[in-house]
Amino acid sequence: MLDQMESAGLERLHFGLDASTGMRAIIAIHSTRRGPAIGGCRFIPYPREQDAITDAIRLAQGMSYKAALAGLPHGGGKAVIIQPNQAIDRAELMAAFGRMVDSLGGDYIAAMDSGTEITDMDAIARSTRFVTCTREFGDPSPWTALGVFEGIKASLSHRYGCENLLGCHIALQGMGHVGFALARLLKKAGAELTITDINPQRLQTACDQLGARSVAPEQIYSVPADVFSPCGLGAVINNDTLNQLKPGIIAGSANNQLLAPGHGEQLHRNNILYAPDYLINAGGLIFVALQHTQTSHEKIHQQVLQIGSTLKRLYAQAELQQ
Ligand code: NAD
Repeated sequence: MLDQMESAGLERLHFGLDASTGMRAIIAIHSTRRGPAIGGCRFIPYPREQDAITDAIRLAQGMSYKAALAGLPHGGGKAVIIQPNQAIDRAELMAAFGRMVDSLGGDYIAAMDSGTEITDMDAIARSTRFVTCTREFGDPSPWTALGVFEGIKASLSHRYGCENLLGCHIALQGMGHVGFALARLLKKAGAELTITDINPQRLQTACDQLGARSVAPEQIYSVPADVFSPCGLGAVINNDTLNQLKPGIIAGSANNQLLAPGHGEQLHRNNILYAPDYLINAGGLIFVALQHTQTSHEKIHQQVLQIGSTLKRLYAQAELQQ
């Protein structure tokens, strides 16, 4: 495990167990050089404990890049709470996780992520002040969606010289907090949507509300869209999906979209423009970090819009280096 930490450049890895609530959690602190590590907290099932550890380590590393690129005084961290398969008192489990966060004395600040809700953050806040995204602060997902929306426009502009979304076809994977908010923005801008989710009920609700076309989860990669927007879980760009992908642009919110760095090079060889996840999905992080310092919504909005221009600069720089 130390080798795994070393190759990811990780500072620390913490394990927490609370038998009375069933809480089993991992907190990965990638870096505190720029300031306290900040990052989301996942609550999903994992087939094996090692998968949860790997997820936490990879996600924490991405958070350091994200905070640095967004110019925030924070390092990267991430927590994974393994969802138990027996009945639990969710609020008590989250409060136990809060005690674990508190024991780190502010080196890690928890936020919402896949599988966690504002009510979970409220429960965590019963035990620690090192938590954001509580009812007092609000859900960062709409800000993440706004950043991805700007990133999609920047990607279209770089590839086709025009960022108008009218009639542009987007294949969207995941109709959760971010995916659904993004779909609304895209729809309002005139985009044509094909959507999917592994949760049939969520997919149906989204189809009904957005008037979007849906496909089965495994079919989303081969939809002949202009943009593929992964907003579910990570590692969706892999050897299997690379052979199926039709769109010329990948721009979505999911963390760690590439299974391995080599898949980024493969995308480049396949002439697919890839918006790095840790840049395009930084809107939520910008929101939670600036909310913590009482920055106005207007200033937060302006900083999230910057994601588009940062991405354009990055694409231009990458082209110069080819
Ligand atoms: P969420 O749990 O609310 O939604 C994820 C959705 O994706 C769910 O509806 C789930 O059923 C679906 N899904 C999962 N795997 C899928 C698959 N293989 N095919 C189709 N659908 C699938 O999570 P979220 O908050 O919307 O976050 C989505 C992604 O964006 C995650 O990777 C998260 O880490 C990342 N992210 C979120 C934020 C944020 O502000 N919430 C910020 C940065 C990054």
